[in-house]
Amino acid sequence: MSEEDVLRRVEASREHMVDALVRMLRIPALGPMNGGAGEGERASMVETLLNGFDRVYRVDAADDVPRPNIIARKGHGAKGTAWIVTHLDTVPPGELSAWESPPWEPRIVDGRIHGLGAEDNGQALIASIYAAIAVDLPPQPRMGIGLAIVSDEETLSVKGIQHLIDEGEFSADDVFIVPDWGLPDGSLVEVAEKHLLWLGVTVHGKQVHASRPSDGVNALRVGSRLLVELLDILEERYGDEDPSFSPEASTIEPTKRDPTVDNINTIPSRDSFHLDIRLLPRYDPHELISLVERTAEERAREQGARAEVEVVQLTVSGRPSDTGHEAFQALARSIRDVHGVEPRAVGIGGGTCANFFRLQGWNAYVWQSSEGKVHQPNEYCLTENLVDDAKTFALALSRLCR
Ligand SMILES: [Zn+2]
Repeated sequence: MSEEDVLRRVEASREHMVDALVRMLRIPALGPMNGGAGEGERASMVETLLNGFDRVYRVDAADDVPRPNIIARKGHGAKGTAWIVTHLDTVPPGELSAWESPPWEPRIVDGRIHGLGAEDNGQALIASIYAAIAVDLPPQPRMGIGLAIVSDEETLSVKGIQHLIDEGEFSADDVFIVPDWGLPDGSLVEVAEKHLLWLGVTVHGKQVHASRPSDGVNALRVGSRLLVELLDILEERYGDEDPSFSPEASTIEPTKRDPTVDNINTIPSRDSFHLDIRLLPRYDPHELISLVERTAEERAREQGARAEVEVVQLTVSGRPSDTGHEAFQALARSIRDVHGVEPRAVGIGGGTCANFFRLQGWNAYVWQSSEGKVHQPNEYCLTENLVDDAKTFALALSRLCR
């Protein structure tokens, strides 16, 4: 079977892919944390599409409702398995009045398939299935082909990807394509992430009338000075740039600030602000947390106040994925051949599920063509992206596995 045959097969399944995606999007798949009934019904529909695999089975996770995870495998490779990992669940639709048509009633207009989850992650889920179906493996392939179609990506991934890792579904030889982020022209492959850290800092002072400030301790004054000083210290200490990341430096941004008092003539006893920090992997986030704690405590004490630092979220980033690996090369070459762009490896600010694989020390590549309307009303995907991404996956699998 030639590469032309593989591409022809994908092209021939164009109508089936569109039909499958539309049928899938009609079935809500909201996790219980998002107030939904889970991904069960959508998983059953997806299983009916998985024809021509050697093994299709479920590795469900227990929860308020069972959380389905589907594994489909083809061939047994000498060098592990090339996986494409996609997710069943969607985010909630948000304000329904902002949708031009109901989120679970997909419609096709001008080559766009509209519907909640059309691009996140429906496009890639359907594309990966038809790509894997299009590739025939010889009796002794170099690598096996695996699809992991998981739950719980939009919330914690504990019942999805992490569950499959814990259950031993993957091995150290395996490589992972995670199509859940990308640019419209498909020219970037995400290979690394920054550490993601959310900090809350609360300063406690003493409330008094605003005309007698020396009788109290103005928490807003202490907190504001502390915030400015922290930004200076952190930007100085963590100022390295790495051109393989976009943006190249770590980002340290004050974001949420809680209200203080309701009236203008009271000195507030409490001030609370938050920092969103995306730290280059070369730095230790725990060291940063200690530095913030020390500084906050000292500065507050000097001014008669007290400070608390809360780690709201910390996601440590795994090892950046290897761009010299044959899986990256096969994917990059296939992107070039199908999309006509020269793909570039990039690190981003954090938050993709590829990090679960990188934390194990495995190579995971995040790529798809994306219109960038995910988690927004009137989400859509392009039929052309659905088909071209399927061709890209099929070529990459064919080059890696056969
Ligand atoms: Zn997604």
